[in-house]
Amino acid sequence: MSHVLRRTLTGDQPTIVRGEGAYLIDSTGKRYLDACGGAAVSSLGHDNRAVRDAVARQMETLSFAHTGLFTNEPAEELADFLVARAPQGTGEGRVMYLGSGSEAMEAALKLARQYHVERGEPQRAKIIARAPSYHGNTLAALSVSGHAGRRAPFAPLLIDVEHIDAAYAYRFQRDAESEADFARRMADQLEERIQALGPQNVAAFVAEPVVGASLGTQPAPAGYFRRIREICDRHGVLYIADEVMCGMGRTGSLFALEQEGICADITTMAKGLGAGYQPIAAVMASEKVVGAILGGSGKLWNGHTYMSHAVATAGAMAVMREIEDRDLLSAVRKQGARLEAGLRARLEDHAHVGDIRGRGLFWTAEIVQDRASKKPFDVSLNLAGRVLNAAKDAGVICYPSQGCADGTAGDHVLLAPCFTSTDAEIDLIVEVMANAID
Ligand code: PLP
Repeated sequence: MSHVLRRTLTGDQPTIVRGEGAYLIDSTGKRYLDACGGAAVSSLGHDNRAVRDAVARQMETLSFAHTGLFTNEPAEELADFLVARAPQGTGEGRVMYLGSGSEAMEAALKLARQYHVERGEPQRAKIIARAPSYHGNTLAALSVSGHAGRRAPFAPLLIDVEHIDAAYAYRFQRDAESEADFARRMADQLEERIQALGPQNVAAFVAEPVVGASLGTQPAPAGYFRRIREICDRHGVLYIADEVMCGMGRTGSLFALEQEGICADITTMAKGLGAGYQPIAAVMASEKVVGAILGGSGKLWNGHTYMSHAVATAGAMAVMREIEDRDLLSAVRKQGARLEAGLRARLEDHAHVGDIRGRGLFWTAEIVQDRASKKPFDVSLNLAGRVLNAAKDAGVICYPSQGCADGTAGDHVLLAPCFTSTDAEIDLIVEVMANAID
């Protein structure tokens, strides 16, 4: 067929016609090794048979039944699975399904608000989050996001959210400051902000256990989240863990927060939950939050038409089973170590790579003009975009993020290969990325 007018807003992009393992194939036959799975979505690659079969089987029996009146087996099975594996302290939690990470963040904010109202503390309405951060595209989720560029055009529509510094070691850790002191100083910003606002006015604190797109796969310094938990508990503030990008095995444990030794009051999940086979997200409320709601009005003040969609939850359940049955969390840790070693060997001494950071199969190289001063390149150079294009030409897809125009962060390139990546695929990703950055 000759040229066809494309009417989608991304219609000028190559047309992908097939997925094969870690590869995407376009209509010209060009193959792309998918080294980022979109933004850490495609954790099982692009043609997982078990997930495809589970989706097709579910279509044979039930796709949709009104969530206000009914539940269904796949939705309940997946909720059991998630709650049983949630970090200790979540207790008898409950799960609500949504269609995207942004909707999950909206639902988390509403749950936090409902929790306080049900407990007779209606004045608790303030949300505190971190910057840089990204928590979604809808107006409240964007308000929570500490991302000046994305917020700017919509500023008059956003709700008032307070931001403290993200624990961004490369730029915010002082010379000679120990990791423990850095963790304490960063976490204590939360306590100071709660005190300034008045604890009686604060509803929740939002943070990703391992930061994703906004900052580039940044794990927290050891001890940071334990202190955050203490501070939240001391002041009756809920902790919302955004696991949309870092969750579902990406960092080597099903929930990234498991590795911090604490639990969240509310957890959001998306991307890796459906692994790209189904558009599904979830919010999980801990027993503490559920108890307040069941002991109060007994009803959730939130709902969407497609919650608990049977095909979406059956697909996500099959993804979870694949991760567990094939021990893919071990594979994430093993191949993550290979990816880290490769990136360090090839890029650690690079004149324009300031930092290499990550956990599991979730890694980032931050690109700077000058390593000594950590000065980023001017954003007008669009360096991250140019690295993406160079890698794409060589057949590898990465996830680029532009630096901040105010010079507070450099361009970075994020890698999130699928959990089934072979040694050869990991090595090829390193080689192509290093050449693209060169
Ligand atoms: N939260 C985090 C941490 C994210 O990385 C994203 C998307 O990148 C979102 C929320 C929003 O998810 P979605 O794009 O599915 O709405």
